Amino acid sequence: MKYLFLSLSILIIIPTFLNAQNYSTDTEELTRYSEEITVDFLKEHLGVLASDSLAGRDTGTPGLKIAADYLVDFYESIGLEPKGVDGSYFQPFELNAMVTDSLVYKTYRAEGADTLLINHSTEAPNEISEFVRGVGGAGPIEGDIVFGGFGVDDSLNNVRNLEGDSIAGKWVLIFEEIPTVVEGDTLINPSYGTRDRLITLIRNYDASGILLISDQSDREFRDMAEMNSKTINVPENLSLAYRGSGQSSYTPPYAYTYISPEFAAEILGVDGEAGIQELKESTLENLQDFRSQKTSYHLKYTPYEGERIIETNNVVAYFEGADPILKDEVVVIMGHYDHVGIGSPNEEGDYIYNGADDNGSGTAGLMAIANAFHQAAEEGYKPKRSILFLHVSAEESGLLGSRYYSDHPTIPIEQTVAALNTDMISRSDPEHIEAGNTDYVYLIGGDLISTQLDSLVLDANQKSVNMTLDRGYNDLNDPTQIYRRSDHWNFGRLRVPFVFFFTGIHEDYHAPGDEIHDVDFEKYPRIVRLIYNSAVNIANFEGRPQVDNEEFIEITSEQAR
Ligand SMILES: [Zn+2]
Repeated sequence: MKYLFLSLSILIIIPTFLNAQNYSTDTEELTRYSEEITVDFLKEHLGVLASDSLAGRDTGTPGLKIAADYLVDFYESIGLEPKGVDGSYFQPFELNAMVTDSLVYKTYRAEGADTLLINHSTEAPNEISEFVRGVGGAGPIEGDIVFGGFGVDDSLNNVRNLEGDSIAGKWVLIFEEIPTVVEGDTLINPSYGTRDRLITLIRNYDASGILLISDQSDREFRDMAEMNSKTINVPENLSLAYRGSGQSSYTPPYAYTYISPEFAAEILGVDGEAGIQELKESTLENLQDFRSQKTSYHLKYTPYEGERIIETNNVVAYFEGADPILKDEVVVIMGHYDHVGIGSPNEEGDYIYNGADDNGSGTAGLMAIANAFHQAAEEGYKPKRSILFLHVSAEESGLLGSRYYSDHPTIPIEQTVAALNTDMISRSDPEHIEAGNTDYVYLIGGDLISTQLDSLVLDANQKSVNMTLDRGYNDLNDPTQIYRRSDHWNFGRLRVPFVFFFTGIHEDYHAPGDEIHDVDFEKYPRIVRLIYNSAVNIANFEGRPQVDNEEFIEITSEQAR
């Protein structure tokens, strides 16, 4: 008897475990797990994502791949299901890109009947060149170098720098600065700008290329050249391969190139930076008499670049809901994990755009939310619907990763009940700092789309962090059109209701100063908890949040499906 009793109990217990149906879906209990979202967790992961070693996470660079691998390792470690393609967390996709491998500059000097190669410079990763390409230079350019002074042709003021030796088909070497006014005297037409000069040199005088003697010191020039060398093979002009060539940008054949003051001095036969400065002053004094003059130098420029197909990844992880039927539906929590990489340095010479707030904050936020759900599941709690963690790539290049996902969803769009997007959720804008209220988040979408979705978020806020929900940008007719300007819109256009969580534009937006030390760790975890609690509410809601805003329905009806 006893034996039989034991066997029976085993028979009863085992199927219960195998079905894994014994999760509690209690909303209040799940809400408690928002406490798993901690400052320490966010600091640890944001610290990695925003570190200099990831070099600003530009799409198509090794830094972004490191970030992607980091996300994969994390989701693997907490056992979330991969929901990219082929059983992987990655959803790879192809982009058309313009990639520059190197730009080669060979300078020759005529000596009697001979021509000597006197300098061979290459703009390439880890090489510092005497030249930095500015604008143009789509094809090779070869020609003699003619010194054009300030390169000004302004008949009103009787300045005709270019009427000496011909610059047609040649490189014209000029000072970067345009001397409009010196000590109160108008030397040339004050409205004469960079554009006028470019048009004069290229269109009116047929120069093939422009060599600008940098206003910077030689040291500053070397720093710029070093920074530039790091960007030389970064893919540019990205567009989704499956949607055709997209916005192929026009690169003009002429080049607008910077030359180091030191090397310009050699070509002009003066003594280094000081010599350049003296030459500049004497040219300025005789501005009306100055005429272009030949040098004995010749420059051959060859770009090695072209259109390529590159690959990048969305990272997708799945947390299955507990309700046997509702688990087929999914709440998407998303954020882009790419940023803008390397660019012009700030005053401190920092050229890495770390993107801590944009959008390291959303990326680490998603990880913290996934971790909270994971902890809840470990202790027997799960929401009814499933949650999809969607880290999209190439946002900064035109919302490409989210567009790709929305055209190739790994869970059908019809089963996607809502999308919660995060992009910059860890700082405050000047308006709120001035007003002394930094405990806020902008909500965009929500009530503009679905009253029910909005009330689920409001309820989550009331029951937990209770922060100020600012609807400042929340207007379909807002001139900034923020509601269309981040990744959520790729769901919105397919009429999936969305809420966009955002803390606004600050002084370090798309600048090297967007670093972790300026993140507000008081408010940031509170926003992440609000998003977690909103997801719990939506995932447990009895129905799906209905789209009920007529204006939104009208706008989305106009979208190509
Ligand atoms: Zn962003």
